Amino acid sequence: MSYEQVEVPADGERITADAETGELDVPSNPIIPIIHGDGIGTDVGPAAQKVLDAAAEATGRSISWMRLYAGESARERYDENLPDDTVEAIREFRVAIKGPLTTPVGSGFRSLNVALRKKLDLYANVRPTYHLDGVPSPVTSPEKMDMVNFRENTEDVYAGIEWEAGTDEVEKVREFIEEEMGFDETIHDGPVGIGIKPISEFGTKRLVRRAIDYAIEDGRDSVTLVHKGNIMKFTEAAFRDWGYEVATEEYGDEVITEDELWEEYDGDAPDGVVVIKDRIADNMLQQLLTRTEQYDVLAMPNLNGDYLSDAAGAQIGGLGIAPGANLGDGRVLAEPVHGSAPKYAGEDKVNPTAMILSGRIMLEQLGWDDAADLVRDAVEETISAGTVTYDLHRQIEGGTKLATSEYADAVVETIHDLS
Ligand code: NAP
Repeated sequence: MSYEQVEVPADGERITADAETGELDVPSNPIIPIIHGDGIGTDVGPAAQKVLDAAAEATGRSISWMRLYAGESARERYDENLPDDTVEAIREFRVAIKGPLTTPVGSGFRSLNVALRKKLDLYANVRPTYHLDGVPSPVTSPEKMDMVNFRENTEDVYAGIEWEAGTDEVEKVREFIEEEMGFDETIHDGPVGIGIKPISEFGTKRLVRRAIDYAIEDGRDSVTLVHKGNIMKFTEAAFRDWGYEVATEEYGDEVITEDELWEEYDGDAPDGVVVIKDRIADNMLQQLLTRTEQYDVLAMPNLNGDYLSDAAGAQIGGLGIAPGANLGDGRVLAEPVHGSAPKYAGEDKVNPTAMILSGRIMLEQLGWDDAADLVRDAVEETISAGTVTYDLHRQIEGGTKLATSEYADAVVETIHDLS
């Protein structure tokens, strides 16, 4: 592949993947694409790079970073928001990390992030949500939360199939719904916007499969399918039913359903078996708070996943902390949950932990679990020592307020101490 403006580092090697299983084959000096991103991306991007380099070196490896551009930095270089160079390089090099992007109004994109996920078919958004010692939280026992949320990334009402009120298109759709499909007294008269909610067997099963695979590999107790199937029978209930189908048809005695758990095992699951359960989304939102420790891995359609993972993130310390990654078959794009917070851009002020811990997910995906654990331990130790950025500093007694870059240096130092 030849690129217009991407410089491929000469000193690293490519990550490859098995054509059938998508399993990654990772050299000890991989080339990893990085997009620093817009706004505070220019602060948190370099901070995360420093920490991930230190963790790789401490475990006998190295990362050859390859800078890519999207958003504002791409407009300066390519005069467009999402150049082919960027998409193709992530496709070719397989595992990448990005900071937040601001989608400019009138750019032709609903969201640059959604466009990137769609173009690369990154169908699972993964957000591990666990509490780090020392991080202030609005709940009394934040340590009870240790959850991994798998959110479907390509369909649901986020698929972008919608029509604006007052257009010819929306009137055509209304006419079809009323006259051909028989819903003649359902939509109110007057202007209306209409959106379509596709939930497919294919999209559901590959997402749920990913969640169950993760639960088995990570020794988790359960996978919960979160849906609104009590109201939306043919979309959300279908998600639930296809989810159970993939579990029972493909995983044999590695899984049992919650019904089987009670009928056959009296509520006591055999060791090493993953229990598949389901919860209605509104109930799940309150159980996040009231029965936190009963949930492990959640699998959800796009919209439920969006709401629920932010709510869960708030319980363990909020946006400065919350990491994420988008997974496809043989492809990974790690990114923090937070946005570009333009008012803090370039101030060397914000918390880079979310970007650093997104890098931790990336390291896990490379199979570098020792380096990933080192990153987590070093971040936790740094925060526990009260050395934190402004967002956490304003919520704790005492402590030392550090700039973004100083905090990253403190984490690097802790990595050196721990290794
Ligand atoms: P935001 O950028 O996430 O910022 C909202 C607030 O969250 C900030 O003002 C700050 O709160 C806090 N915050 C966010 N990141 C933080 C960090 N690293 N450290 C400490 N505090 C942090 O949300 P937004 O203002 O709604 O969105 C701004 C732009 O980002 C929009 O253009 C949006 O589209 C884009 N966005 C991009 C992504 C992505 O690239 N994946 C995701 C979400 C939003 P305080 O001011 O209270 O300290």
